[in-house]
Amino acid sequence: MSREPVHLPRTVAEFAAQAYALEAEAAERYAELADLMRTHHNAPVAALFDKLAHLEGLHRDKLRGRLMGPAPGDAGAFRWQTPEGPETTDYADLHYLMTPWHALKLAEHNEQRAVAFFEHLAVADVPEDVRAEALEMVADEREHVRLVQEWLAKLPEPGPGWDEDPDPPNVVD
Ligand code: ZN
Repeated sequence: MSREPVHLPRTVAEFAAQAYALEAEAAERYAELADLMRTHHNAPVAALFDKLAHLEGLHRDKLRGRLMGPAPGDAGAFRWQTPEGPETTDYADLHYLMTPWHALKLAEHNEQRAVAFFEHLAVADVPEDVRAEALEMVADEREHVRLVQEWLAKLPEPGPGWDEDPDPPNVVD
């Protein structure tokens, strides 16, 4: 399900309220993906996700500073989706064998959603200060897409059977 803003922000504070959940979610997911890659002993990709967690955390904190009231709760939160779409699975249920390639595809998909979210606001009928904020976020999120795609280009796409466990538990022949 799409989480487009239900109304256009009329102030930077309203913009911050709409964008905060997106950035908080991204920072949290990247920290999780970094940990996941560490368990796969993939230090370079873990470092990339650590960097992105830091960058999204900076966005989150900047937006937090522009909120007028308390940080929005989970209502209307922007949740990450798997590339297959929102209906497939909860993030928490993602395959335990997920490879760095899959983790990067997940990141690419959600960075592209972030770009689309801010582009939508940047071209909408909003005050110029809100447009300026949105355009800044578009540029930053495009850079995140670029970082992720740069890494994806280095990795071969896993072939069919990547998720077959050669020694599955609890199998009786
Ligand atoms: Zn991003």
